[in-house]
Amino acid sequence: MCGIVGYIGTQQAAPLIVSGLKRLEYRGYDSAGVCIISDSGLRIEKKAGRVAALEKFVDIDSLSGTVGVGHTRWATHGLPNDVNAHPHTDQSGSIALVHNGIIENYVTIKKKLLNAGYTFRSETDSEVLAVFIGMLYDQLNDVELAVRTALSEVEGTFGLVVVSTHEPDMIIAARRGSPLILGIGNGEYLVASDAAAVIAHTRQVVYLNENEMAILRRDGFTTKTIENVKTRSVVEEVSFELEQIEKGGFEHFMLKEIFEQPTTFHDGFRGRLQIEEGTVRLGGLTSVVDKLRAAKRIIITACGTSWHAALVGEYLIEHLARVPVEVEYASEFRYRNPIINSDDIVIAISQSGETADTLAAIREAQLKGATVLGMVNVVGSTIARETDAGVYLHAGPEIGVASTKAFTSQLCVLTQFALYLGRMRALSAEQGREIARELALIPEHIRTILRGADEVRRIAHEYSSVSNFLYLGRGFNFPAALEGALKLKEISYIHAEGYPAAEMKHGPIALIDDNMPVIFIAPKDEIYEKVLTNIQEVRARSGKVIAIADEEDEYIASIANHVIRIPRTLPMLTPILASIPLQLLAYYIAVERGCNVDMPRNLAKSVTVE
Ligand code: GLU
Repeated sequence: MCGIVGYIGTQQAAPLIVSGLKRLEYRGYDSAGVCIISDSGLRIEKKAGRVAALEKFVDIDSLSGTVGVGHTRWATHGLPNDVNAHPHTDQSGSIALVHNGIIENYVTIKKKLLNAGYTFRSETDSEVLAVFIGMLYDQLNDVELAVRTALSEVEGTFGLVVVSTHEPDMIIAARRGSPLILGIGNGEYLVASDAAAVIAHTRQVVYLNENEMAILRRDGFTTKTIENVKTRSVVEEVSFELEQIEKGGFEHFMLKEIFEQPTTFHDGFRGRLQIEEGTVRLGGLTSVVDKLRAAKRIIITACGTSWHAALVGEYLIEHLARVPVEVEYASEFRYRNPIINSDDIVIAISQSGETADTLAAIREAQLKGATVLGMVNVVGSTIARETDAGVYLHAGPEIGVASTKAFTSQLCVLTQFALYLGRMRALSAEQGREIARELALIPEHIRTILRGADEVRRIAHEYSSVSNFLYLGRGFNFPAALEGALKLKEISYIHAEGYPAAEMKHGPIALIDDNMPVIFIAPKDEIYEKVLTNIQEVRARSGKVIAIADEEDEYIASIANHVIRIPRTLPMLTPILASIPLQLLAYYIAVERGCNVDMPRNLAKSVTVE
């Protein structure tokens, strides 16, 4: 997510920082900015949009100075506009910072600062940190100490770079949860989110560790923990090429995004899930709590992968909150004059927040008086702006056209929404606690599944030349089967269909012969036995069975040709786990077939046309 570049040395910092930011563009962002320490103080220029827009708006070469920081922002708190773009400064304008990540307790800190008379220009969590550091500096008269003191109170994640006119020959960098590396030059240092921004200047780097910070001066640098314990830093030589780093060493963005899911899923509930109370705090819904409590019906509208997430949402919300849910393709919803009442809640789900059909659907719903909520990934996108309230996915930029991490983040948010609604109604604290506890374990379960990726690759190799695939699941996993089939279609161009497993005998069974692989999602839930019967039906017709099953399910190995294991969890959470091997399977098959995985033919990432 987002990009940071800092420089201290003898060259002009601004052009060097801007070219570094361009190297980080692949990470995805929505605004850009720089701060240079000049003779007259901090010079800050920032702008919504691309780095090129910033260059057009300001003459970068005119920003004179040899110390500075730059940032490309991926908005999490506040619209992607000029004011919210980084760098942010403290009240006096003498300390500036760029921040990657989320300050989770920013509301509490902001309240304290407001009470003490401090004011804010932006809506960001990051500015709160800048002002907080400034306040501490006024008390402590030491920039580094102020930064360390602030960071010890901060909850959440940060990759942070601070510059200040109080110490114009120093840069401070710190990290927790967001990567930062130091580029070691001769009398000059860089700090950046990754090596892509550094290797044009030096291949000598230091990877900062969790909870570590670095103090950089022209004549050397020190590293220490945020608690001020000195650390030993190892200078390493970057041996890889730019292209590799941009994809984090993965062959494709899609694979990188699949492997990011332990983190992105965690980011979806971090600061929200209240395990002890068995509930969820969703700040973005506070304004519509009464409407939610009174809701008689929920309609979820979406397209493609988001529509599949919506179907899982239907099961979840009905199961936990006992509110009737309907799921509608946005493209159908908008044209069929749907019946909508003013006590209905309409939820729009979209990764980009710009999906034209979904946007038209929410406008239609609003016209008819419904309360409309958004569940989108891109902060400040049109859907986020046009809905009455909402919950962000916090999956970070998704670059691969076929959605992977945004899908599991949608399920993360929908589960929490269902729990939130359920706890307002019949769900007890104990029931809530069990779900919250299990949800919090999902990132670790995803990690376990990803460790088995090679096994999925072997299966993919065996089936990469088939022409058809069938995906079957029941209950919560019927939508997971649909999503699995869609992934394969999108990137490998193999014809694939998803069905509820029991529907097979009403038609698709005619397709089964010894060339037909059938994927069964078969965790041990209340309909497990029924799925076993469906597997036998396929076996009886010589179909090839690939089962996605619980770790401890030994029986299934005796009737399936292949078994892919997923850790045991609550049945309602199994679609999240089942979708990971299905993403991997689609990916490896597409790679075997030589397809352009990140940019499949005919598809666009953000479908802004009808
Ligand atoms: N949370 C910060 C913001 O919204 C930083 C986002 C980022 O990582 O770019 O401004």
